[in-house]
Parts: sequence; C-alpha cells; structure tokens
Amino acid sequence: MTKIFIDPGHGGANPGAIAASGLQEADVTLDIGLRLGRILKNRGYEVDYSRTENTTVSLAQRAQAANSWGADYFISIHCNSNPDPIYKGTSTYCFRLGIPAAVLAEYVNTALIEAIGTPDLGVMTANFAVLRRTQMPAILVETAFLSNPEEAALLAEPVFRENCAIGIANGIDNYLSAQ
Ligand SMILES: [Zn+2]
Repeated sequence: MTKIFIDPGHGGANPGAIAASGLQEADVTLDIGLRLGRILKNRGYEVDYSRTENTTVSLAQRAQAANSWGADYFISIHCNSNPDPIYKGTSTYCFRLGIPAAVLAEYVNTALIEAIGTPDLGVMTANFAVLRRTQMPAILVETAFLSNPEEAALLAEPVFRENCAIGIANGIDNYLSAQ
C-alpha cells in the first residue's frame, strides 16, 4: 500500500499567514490535510500526518516523522501570502527539478488547478526544510493566497477546501498511474 505523509503547514504557536478576515493559515491547512487524508484512505492509500490538531510541530520534526514512518511521498499543504493583495493563484514547490518530486509536483499542481480553478503559477523550486530533510519525494502545495480577499473568501469555504483535497488526491493518483 502506498504510504502518503500529509503535512498541514504551521499550527500551534505558528499560525502562518493571516487573512484580513482573521482566517489563519494553520486552520485552513489542517482542514484540507484531514480532508485529503480521508479521501486518500478511501482510495486505498495508507496515510499519516505531521499533526491532526492545532499543535506546534517543528520543520525538522515533520520531516523526521515522515522518514521514520517510511513514507513513500510527502505532501505539505500551505496557503500563500504576499504583502501585495493583488497576487492570487496556485503553485507547487519541489526541492529541485529533474527529480521524481518535480514530476509529482507537476501532476498535483495541474489536478489541483483543475479542481479549484485558480490561476496557474506553476511548479517552483525552493530550499524548504521539509523538502530538503525528507528522504522520499516531497512537495509543498501553495493552494491559494490568504492575502488576496477573493481567495481568502474561497479558502474559508468547506466546499473549496474539499475541492483542494480532491485536486491534490487526483494529482497523486494521476502521477502514480503514469509511472
Ligand atoms: Zn505556510
């Protein structure tokens, strides 16, 4: 059974980005992460999480938990933010191009945008600790911008969060089917 480790970004002492409405990234990522876990379990995957409550978990702990569990894939869920509220859209990060994680990132980014209809900002690389310290293909999904009022309103909706989870799950399915 393929083992997917879900990492809802931030939590506890670290709320992440906060929308003008007061909506906190940590709450959005946890809800999307739990929804994604339920969907993946229903589709026959084995699932574990870096957190299932509003708790503080360090970046090193997140990677280590995935490594010691023996995850096949690591999916970190975030919301984007920019000082300029005009920015909107979806992007997915991998550690570098030319590795399996980059291909997974392409599949997930494409399927997620299909599911939620956001502008496509594409796949990017970043030296994020959770991407660097994980021993399995790892991606970080920036679902939408909490700093953009329109996308913040969407991120507050359960239906939109469910569609985020469905899109990410579809991307994982599509990637694995193509291998
Ligand atoms: Zn974040």
